[in-house]
Amino acid sequence: MNVADVVFPLPRARSVAPPAPVHAVSGVDSYPLVGSETRSEVMSLIPAGILIDEIPIRTPALNLVAQARTAVSRAVAGLDSRLVVVVGPCSIHDTTSAVEYGIKLKALADRYSSQLIIVMRTYFEKPRTSIGWKGLIHDPDLDGTHRINKGLRMARQLVLDLNDLGLPTASEFLDPQIPQYLGDLTSWATIGARTTESQIHRELASGLPMPVGFKNRTDGTPQTAVDAVVTARSAHCFPSVGKHGAAAIVRTTGNRSCHVVLRGGSGTGANFSPEHVADVCERLKRAGLPGSVMIDCSHDNCGKDYTRQKDVVASICDQISRGSWRVFGAMLESNLIEGRQQYVAGMPAVYGQSITDSCISIQETERLLEQLATAQQKRGAR
Ligand code: PEP
Ligand code: MN
Repeated sequence: MNVADVVFPLPRARSVAPPAPVHAVSGVDSYPLVGSETRSEVMSLIPAGILIDEIPIRTPALNLVAQARTAVSRAVAGLDSRLVVVVGPCSIHDTTSAVEYGIKLKALADRYSSQLIIVMRTYFEKPRTSIGWKGLIHDPDLDGTHRINKGLRMARQLVLDLNDLGLPTASEFLDPQIPQYLGDLTSWATIGARTTESQIHRELASGLPMPVGFKNRTDGTPQTAVDAVVTARSAHCFPSVGKHGAAAIVRTTGNRSCHVVLRGGSGTGANFSPEHVADVCERLKRAGLPGSVMIDCSHDNCGKDYTRQKDVVASICDQISRGSWRVFGAMLESNLIEGRQQYVAGMPAVYGQSITDSCISIQETERLLEQLATAQQKRGAR
C-alpha cells in the first residue's frame, strides 16, 4: 500500500483521474504535489501585427511620437533645458475620463511648452505587491473576466486618441510582449520598482525605441537602478515573440536614453533630497553616464499621501532654481478628481478618480506645473 492509497481510498472504478501524490512535509502538514491538480486554460491572443493593422498610427501621431522621444532623450542627456514631466493617473481604468483628462492636460502642455516637456501617464499594467487588479489590459471589465484581447484594443485606441490630440504618452511595461502592441505609440516608458532588477526587463529596455526610466527598487536603494541603466545601454540577444506571434530571437543595439527615476522606498523613506540626488548622480557619473535623474513625487517619496506630492515638487523647484542640473524631470500621479476609491466590481465608480494609488486633482496639477515651469525659467539655459 502506498501513501496515495491511504489518503484517497476511493474505489478505483470511480476515480476518473489518478489521485495526486501526497507528501508529508516536516511532520506538520501534507500537501499534494503541484502538477495533476494545477489546471491552465490556454486561449488565443490577438497578434500585435493584427491589432496594429486594425488601429494604425498615422503621420501626425508618428511625428509627435518622434519629436517627444527626441525631446526627452535630449533632456536626459542635458541638451534640452526643459523639464520632462510625466503626469497622469496611476492607472487607466476608464478611457472616457482618460480622454477628458488628456484634453485638460494638453492645454497645460501647450501653455508651458517652453519650460516643460509634458507626457501623459497611460499605465495599463499594474505590478502588484501581492494580489489585486492588474490593469486595463489584463482585466478591462474590472470584474476578473480577464478579457485581454479587449484590454489591448482599448489601450491601443486610447493612446492613439491621445496622440491624435497632440499629447504624447508614457507607459510602464511589465509583460515583455506588451511593447509590441503599444510601443510605436509610446514616447516614454518605465520599468517599475518591482522589475528593475529583472534581466528580462533590462534586455527589453535595451531594444525599446523610446527613453526608458528605471525606478529604484521598492526598498529605496538606488544602485539596482544604476545597474539597470548600465545593462540596458548595452547590446543584448534574447528569445522573444515577433509581431505575428512567431517565436523570435531579438538582437538589440542598447538604449542610450535610459535613466534613473527616484521613487523613495520602504527602507530609505523619501529619496528626493539634494543629498540623495547627489549620491545617485555620482554613482551614474562613475558608471560613465549623464549625472541626472527624474524624481517621482508620488509613491514612497510622498509617503503614499498624495497631498504631499506638492512638498516633493517644492524641493525639486528649490533644487532647480538654485541652478542644479541633476534633476531633468518629475513624475506626478494626477487625475480629474483627487484621492482614490475602493472599487467594488459591479458597483458604480466615482468618475475620474483613481482605483489604484491616490492622485492629486487636475487643479492641483495645474498649480504644480506652474511652479515647475517657474523654477525651470529661473535655472535658465545651460
Ligand atoms: C506607478 O508608477 O504607479 C508604480 C507602480 O510605480 P513603482 O514601480 O515605483 O511602484
Ligand atoms: Mn502608482
